[in-house]
Amino acid sequence: MTRPFEPTIFELSRPGRRGLEMDDGAFPDVPKEIPTALQRHLDLELPEVSEPEVIRHFVRLSRANYHLDLGIYPLGSCTMKHNPRVNEHLARLPGFLAIHPLQPEETVQGALKLMKALEEALTAITGMDAATLQPAAGAQGELTALLMIRAYHTAQGNPRKIVLVPDSAHGTNPASTTLAGYESVSIPSTPEGLVDLAALKERLSEDVAALMITNPNTLGLFEVQIREIVEAVHQAGGLVYMDGANLNALLGYVRPGDVGVDAMHINLHKTFSTPHGGGGPGAGPVVVKAHLEPFLPVPRIVEDEDGILRFSFDAPQSIGKVLGFWGHFLVMVRAYAYVRRLGPEGLREVAENAVLNANYLFHLVKNLFEPASPLPPMHEFVVSLARLKKETGVRAIDVAKRLLDYGVYAPTVYFPLIVPEAFMVEPTETETRETLERYADVLKKVVQEAREQPELLKEAPHTTPVRRLNEAKASRELVVRE
Ligand SMILES: *Cc1c(COP(=O)(O)O)cnc(C)c1O
Repeated sequence: MTRPFEPTIFELSRPGRRGLEMDDGAFPDVPKEIPTALQRHLDLELPEVSEPEVIRHFVRLSRANYHLDLGIYPLGSCTMKHNPRVNEHLARLPGFLAIHPLQPEETVQGALKLMKALEEALTAITGMDAATLQPAAGAQGELTALLMIRAYHTAQGNPRKIVLVPDSAHGTNPASTTLAGYESVSIPSTPEGLVDLAALKERLSEDVAALMITNPNTLGLFEVQIREIVEAVHQAGGLVYMDGANLNALLGYVRPGDVGVDAMHINLHKTFSTPHGGGGPGAGPVVVKAHLEPFLPVPRIVEDEDGILRFSFDAPQSIGKVLGFWGHFLVMVRAYAYVRRLGPEGLREVAENAVLNANYLFHLVKNLFEPASPLPPMHEFVVSLARLKKETGVRAIDVAKRLLDYGVYAPTVYFPLIVPEAFMVEPTETETRETLERYADVLKKVVQEAREQPELLKEAPHTTPVRRLNEAKASRELVVRE
């Protein structure tokens, strides 16, 4: 029997209950009625709830949830780090919040200036030549760049058919490849977890449009042969696309453009200060080298003769638009504020601390599990719980669920796919040493429990508002309200 821990707001509704009364004279400027011309004639069933009931409803929901404002959220690959509140505040300034995408350009010069400056900052950080801020997420950035790569090869007279993707890649890589009309061919990893250069060379041909490479890769390892890899792909006439979701680890240390990458996306909602998760807007800007610039989505932001910034659609080779309007502007505001506030030194420290924190936590817990690679990790690490499963019957998912009982969040599990019973941990740079040590202590305790009371873990979590969910059923049968 499932026990709903909180009714829906519609169930709390009672006819005639109100919060604020708009017609009591307190707000003389607010029109009492929506003008008839603007009314839609729908029978909207809106909940009728008093102000304290609304507040309590949402506070109770927030307490039922685990979130970054409660504690560490070390989901590998996701970079769930604290986002400075000051950037949130800046994104809510009325001059940014209350503008409309169809306003005349003359009236939004500040916003366009910010977008242009962010493009420049991102190209400087990555060592590239030009950028688009339009894509709504990392995956859409991948697709955007692949469409540009397709347009580039087509313009060269040889469209090519194949995109090479390492077997450790994020699932969005082969998906974007297929969406862009390419065949995706997998490259195996070496036993150490790096791209197998010899296998890559074997698969290179006249038909290969690009290699998609993630660096650091999804095992958290720096691809030390990146220069050789890039050179081999270029020699075969292909381009190199870097999945830049892990840029957090490289800031101020490695500029992908300097090692020959032709195009990459950046997840503003991972590296640059936008809250990540919950389906809220993110942004996946794409930065490219000069030879891909003509293919960037339109509009580009250009300065006219009078010094006014404008949207320009004058780009005959452009792949067109990839999103309604101009991208997720308030995400750009947060990113720009973050970059300007930290500056080159601060960004470098982000990478330093992200790598330091991951290595420290790895050092504290690696003997409990089997590291996925003998190489040192960068900003995240992957361990396998296969041995624990063999010895106790307890699986990675059981350990993950048990962590919730201790008031900390679980790492990513079962990804990357090439590691059995994978546990992928990314503490991020915004956690303290004490938090990392407590996390390691909790992990030790849970592993001990796995040996002594495996049944306890198989039924976990025991203390959360909802117990273990049937995740497969939940994703197949979407019933959001019982
Ligand atoms: C998060 C991530 C993506 C996809 O980004 P979204 O913004 O979620 O679409 C792609 N590759 C890697 C390595 C990632 O971690």
